[in-house]
Amino acid sequence: MTKTVYIETYGCQMNQYDSELVKSILIKENYEIVTDETLADVVMLNTCTVRDNADRKVMNRVHEIKNRRKPDPVLVGVLGCMATNFKTKLLENPSLRIDFIAGPDSYKELPRLIDEVSTTGDKSFDVTLSEFETYSDVDPSREDGANAWIAIMRGCNNFCTFCVVPYTRGRERSRTPESVIQEVKRLVAAGFSQVTLLGQNVNSYRHETTDFTELMAMVSDVPGVRRIRFTSPHPKDFPKKLLNLMAERPNICNQIHLPLQAGNTRVLDAMNRTYAKEEFLALVDDIRATIPGVALSTDIIVGFPTETAEEFEDTMDVVRRVRFDAAYMFKYSERPNTLAARRLKDDIPEDEKTRRIVQLVDTQRPIYFEKNKELLGTIQEILIDSESTKKNTGEFQGRTDCNRVVIIPPGDYRQGDYISVKITDVTVSVLKGMPV
Ligand code: SF4
Repeated sequence: MTKTVYIETYGCQMNQYDSELVKSILIKENYEIVTDETLADVVMLNTCTVRDNADRKVMNRVHEIKNRRKPDPVLVGVLGCMATNFKTKLLENPSLRIDFIAGPDSYKELPRLIDEVSTTGDKSFDVTLSEFETYSDVDPSREDGANAWIAIMRGCNNFCTFCVVPYTRGRERSRTPESVIQEVKRLVAAGFSQVTLLGQNVNSYRHETTDFTELMAMVSDVPGVRRIRFTSPHPKDFPKKLLNLMAERPNICNQIHLPLQAGNTRVLDAMNRTYAKEEFLALVDDIRATIPGVALSTDIIVGFPTETAEEFEDTMDVVRRVRFDAAYMFKYSERPNTLAARRLKDDIPEDEKTRRIVQLVDTQRPIYFEKNKELLGTIQEILIDSESTKKNTGEFQGRTDCNRVVIIPPGDYRQGDYISVKITDVTVSVLKGMPV
């Protein structure tokens, strides 16, 4: 009999993509995907370890689902980065209400795991990390949209001391270029014209002799691909030939996410980021000299253990000098099992972390506004990605090549349309435009 499955996804784009893989794997096994949790025989939580108290939140969610569905039998599974944590908890406490657990490299085992728990009543799990699994033989079950994500590599070898990914997702491995290109062609045939290449260290991609630059050139050559983006790269892997290719190819977007994390070289060293402040700034200069008009976004952590107020000023200095187009800023919070958690005390008081992040946000806001004002009166091509729903005004939302959000008045548009607009108004966070 067909079983119904509901998947709830937390965290990053890689998790969203993995949920699409899981759906595809289960559909092949005759499962039906539903969008209402209360109609599902099986509920899966695809988890993330980035946020505080993630374990507790997932546990509460499992209880909520099980209680709401009483006395219906519903199976609840935990997938993703927290799988290993929960496997340990399950072994220590077999009465835990989770029924099955699958780690990021075990999704092909899900039909077996669900069968096992359904037929025997015994809880099942598989959290084995693989050196080879890339899921390149699984065609993800995608939702309609303007953009399609494609994971080209998985895992991470970098061991930044604050990050748990190398432990939850294992070592780096890349798909064959042929499988990536086949997937891109299938996406174009299905109507997608923008693809975003995904990986924990996307620009560390390497399959035999093919590196990331060569793969980007191959994707850019596929007829029908109008926009290519990639995330998330590491600053250590930006060879000149990649920057030259980005400058030469109109269908590679003028946008780079360049995670800084911290501006002080000693702190960067403690984070194991493998670059110094001056090297990061030199890379920014090189990127801007090679790709004029490129938009740069970043990630920053404030209050990493032992970071002094003076060292934080180096982060402020980089932010003022680089003038990022977007910045995702976080207060450091310790993640179990990371090198930082094992070796360093989380010693920066919460109020000091707050002071630093407020200072950063206050510095970035006028930069966003000034950068947006520079676009006033210019003509931009936007890709419509949705009807703008916030105020329910019927306005549409699109993105420029540089990934700036532009709101346009209601009209006869469809997701995936490209439209030229004149920028007529700006705020700190959005641009307003009129089709021309
Ligand atoms: S590069 Fe660093 S931050 Fe990124 S996934 Fe790897 S360990 Fe985590």
